[in-house]
Amino acid sequence: MKVASVLIPLPVPEAFDYAVPDEMVVARGDQVAVPLGPRLMRGIVSEVFETTGSNRRLKAVEAVLDDPALPPSTVDFVEWAGRWTLAAPGEMAATALKGLRAPPPRPERRVRRVGERQPARATPARTAVLAALGDRALTAADLARAAGVSSGVVKGLVDEGVLEIFEVSAQAAFDPPDPDHAPSSLNADQAAAAQAMAEGVMARAFRPFLLDGVTGSGKTETYLEAAAEALRADPAAQILILLPEIALTQAVIERITARFGAAPAEWHSGVAPPRRRQVWEAVVAGRCNIVVGARSALFLPFVNLRLVVVDEEHDSSFKQEEGLVYHGRDLAVARARIEGAAVVLASATPSLETLWNARQGRYGWLKLRARHGAAVLPDIQLLDLRQSPPDPQTWLSQPLRQAIGETLARREQTLLFLNRRGYAPVVLCRACGHRLTAPDTDSWLVEHRYTGRLVCHLTGFSMPRPKLCPSCGAEDSLVSVGPGVERVEEEVRQLFPEARVAVFSSDTVPDGKSARALIQSMTDGQIDILVATQAAAKGHNFPGLTLVGVVDADLGLRGGDLRAAERTYQLLAQATGRAGRADKPGRALLQTWTPEHPVLQALAAGDRDAFVEAETAEREIASLPPYGRLAAIILSSENAAAVEKVAADLAQAIPNAERLEVYGPADAPLALVRGRRRKRLLVRADRDVDIQAFLRAWLGRVKAPGSVRLTVDVDPYSF
Ligand code: ADP
Repeated sequence: MKVASVLIPLPVPEAFDYAVPDEMVVARGDQVAVPLGPRLMRGIVSEVFETTGSNRRLKAVEAVLDDPALPPSTVDFVEWAGRWTLAAPGEMAATALKGLRAPPPRPERRVRRVGERQPARATPARTAVLAALGDRALTAADLARAAGVSSGVVKGLVDEGVLEIFEVSAQAAFDPPDPDHAPSSLNADQAAAAQAMAEGVMARAFRPFLLDGVTGSGKTETYLEAAAEALRADPAAQILILLPEIALTQAVIERITARFGAAPAEWHSGVAPPRRRQVWEAVVAGRCNIVVGARSALFLPFVNLRLVVVDEEHDSSFKQEEGLVYHGRDLAVARARIEGAAVVLASATPSLETLWNARQGRYGWLKLRARHGAAVLPDIQLLDLRQSPPDPQTWLSQPLRQAIGETLARREQTLLFLNRRGYAPVVLCRACGHRLTAPDTDSWLVEHRYTGRLVCHLTGFSMPRPKLCPSCGAEDSLVSVGPGVERVEEEVRQLFPEARVAVFSSDTVPDGKSARALIQSMTDGQIDILVATQAAAKGHNFPGLTLVGVVDADLGLRGGDLRAAERTYQLLAQATGRAGRADKPGRALLQTWTPEHPVLQALAAGDRDAFVEAETAEREIASLPPYGRLAAIILSSENAAAVEKVAADLAQAIPNAERLEVYGPADAPLALVRGRRRKRLLVRADRDVDIQAFLRAWLGRVKAPGSVRLTVDVDPYSF
């Protein structure tokens, strides 16, 4: 008997077996309909095998669906990703089908010439229509617009049989990229790096690289050259470029379009579902060469993937923590390994893990040492707030105010960086000391002045700012504590009333379109001072920006989790790296109460190696990543007793294991969210311990009731 193992999107660790009817032809990767209880479900065939023990009473595969099969290597990848993250393989497989959720867009009706037929009466309007159309096919509306006539003229020509209407299928056409459309001349470092990456692509085998170059050194320029090489060698090559944020995609798409004379496909949650379906179908049919996207693009059904780029590889946005928990960078490396492709991790501030891999010789280490052309890195200075504290209820010290004034006078731009949305991070009662939090949640409410509301950034809860203290009922006792970007903006407007000021945060720039508009007006010099969260600190090139002021350089250092120092270093290096381009040198001023902190010292000295050395040494002593491995188990439930019970059961059931410790159960960093009590157990293991096998064995011993949600986070980003 023939049996198919089918991956079904359910939270179970195994595939389901079904009998394959005699006449049915089915293979790994096929999409099938299978019965499950009373329902039919869509699944992916993981395996087809013969079995002799026919005493198994299996239900049969109902049908092989018409939708394209997943390429076998895509199935390999989702199965591997399921094993690595301990996610259900069927749920991982389902993410590879996400592009199919929407129906394809409806076919478009267009008009075209019917042979050489001429109109009976050639009026100027009709002549204009035929001239505008040429031998193209356009929609009637586009044609009328192009010819500058009313749509009645077009309709008349259709009625007369000079033009005809036909339907264009919804299949998206992607113009083939031309690797030699607009090549750039690379400098020596860039050329050497591009050459190494190109050789990696040619090897048609797994070749990982770290592309390590300061901000503005031309990393993008260089990996696009490697992509060009891949296309020269194989015009059918597929290339995936992953970016941490949707806001960054537009600029990269424009550069690719300019470089290759054809627009790449775009893939992220902001792309409309019918369009995503077109991209999915084009990728699986090999009709699309370059995809620019967010981490979910990793699950596209590539048939000839030759190069994967993870730009800003250090960025924590690559870690997905809701739903399926995975790190996009790590999965990108795995995908490249499975496809036998090259993978390039690009950053000015690589993660310690990636640097470690490069130092061990596992990754080719390609360095771009200087900014391209005449541009130099900004001069970075620490402003010791103990020497020049800001006035009460203000946030900008005298030296920073002065620098902003000088920059304005030179008609150059300033970026004030503060990684905090809203007006004030905390609202508290002066009478009783109560801090306002969201209901049943541990995180504080953030005051937003634009909307006049208090918002919980964790749960999205919001309420109007109350008149009375909700705890003691005192009147006029609530005070806003500390600054957010809106409050810094308020101060800047008071200090420099003539300056053009804008705020860049996810509140003022909620979508890609508004982000593009704001980035454009900054690029065009229509903004003098931009107050921004990290949303604007990454990746963008603003030619007129010469001053970066970091309002609170100590902010991230207080967190005290594993990556606090690393993350702060990366964020501040990226933010300060925005200053200064080719013809205008830049400077960065960092306001701090702890100028002696090693992270800030390393930043000021421009000495990344010193920081990496010190931080790596600390991790080594504690056997933390990259010297050890971590995994977290988070339990949550509205029923606090049930969480305690499962946590205690887990603590009782820890399997024996060497070179591995379990910590906890303890309160999770946010112990109460939306009324759900959260507990965490943390596993630390030596590098060579199979932490997944340990977790599987452990979790197999404990049965959690349905009311308790159990999330496994392998390689947690923070802890
Ligand atoms: P990174 O990705 O390292 O921040 P980019 O690739 O964005 O750097 O390059 C920074 C700026 O320098 C861009 O405006 C880019 O067009 C320019 N640039 C970099 N390399 C070259 C080159 N070889 N020729 C021309 N311009 C370059």
